[in-house]
Amino acid sequence: MKNDIIEIEQIISEAYTKIENSQNITLLNKISSEYLGKKSKLSKIIRALVKYPIDQRKEIALTANQAKNHIKNVIISKRQEILLNNVNNKYNTKQIDCSTTSLYFPFSRGSFHPIISTMEDIITIFKLLGFSIFEGNDIENDWYNFEALNIPQYHPARDIQDTFYIDEMKTKLLRTHTSAAQIHVMEEQSPPIQIIVPGRVYRNETQNTSHSSTFHQIEGLVVNKYVTFVDLKTIIKYFVHKFFERDLKIRFRPSYFQFTEPSAEVDIQCYFCDNTKCCSVCSNSGWIEILGCGMVHPNVFKSVNYDTYKYKGYAFGIGIERIAMIKYQIDDIRLFYANDLAFLQQF
Ligand SMILES: [Zn+2]
Repeated sequence: MKNDIIEIEQIISEAYTKIENSQNITLLNKISSEYLGKKSKLSKIIRALVKYPIDQRKEIALTANQAKNHIKNVIISKRQEILLNNVNNKYNTKQIDCSTTSLYFPFSRGSFHPIISTMEDIITIFKLLGFSIFEGNDIENDWYNFEALNIPQYHPARDIQDTFYIDEMKTKLLRTHTSAAQIHVMEEQSPPIQIIVPGRVYRNETQNTSHSSTFHQIEGLVVNKYVTFVDLKTIIKYFVHKFFERDLKIRFRPSYFQFTEPSAEVDIQCYFCDNTKCCSVCSNSGWIEILGCGMVHPNVFKSVNYDTYKYKGYAFGIGIERIAMIKYQIDDIRLFYANDLAFLQQF
């Protein structure tokens, strides 16, 4: 028994020396196998314990297992030391080139989605004209989306067919137009007001080449003491020429919106056939509608307690998808949401 204890101590000493002198992982793995494996000297001592009485077996087994644990721990420490040295040597001998090109980085650069870049282009133009940006809410209540905008209870626009209501009482809904933000602005601020509201709107519509259940608008609102329809026309003409970067013909066509009076829809000379009236985009009319606008209806001013004799205003709403489709000659609105890389990489 005493000889076994002495042998175990010699094994430990021998293993420590070998571990200390090993300089690579391969050699360390061999040492691990030699001193901790099934054929190791320690395992043989444990297997031979049957020759001793039970009370003596315990002490030798305990000493042998403690020796295994010690050797195991020393090997683990040595392995970490060797790995750390390897990493340090690698970075000390091979400098990192921070100016390396993307030859080693095989991912192409991203770009803005055409809807976002169109929206940014429009915002830039109106910012230059002194408009500030107001953020509206996607979830609105009946007052802001309809009632305060002079859209009465019986109006078909409130129908479940057109509006996504989010409660059974039909009091909360996903805004059907960015016009809802007009009321928030006028409740919060006194004239003069000159804002645009970019954002997403929602309609309960069947998707097809020109309609989507969610799309984007930019609302414009100007309120001041001496605002006229001529101011509105001037702003819209400037915007169209700046945005399309072409001297396009524009016409204001009388229309009807609940929250403006008088109201107009703005058409531009067909971008595709140049007003030659021979294409399907403009239905051979030579004109394409781009936005709706008008002078703010007195009932809207009454909703926010503005003096209708003192203040006048105009508003306009631009459909981002629609205007982007015209500018980039895209014939299907669904392409914007398909996440097709081949389509998106064109912009
Ligand atoms: Zn045309």
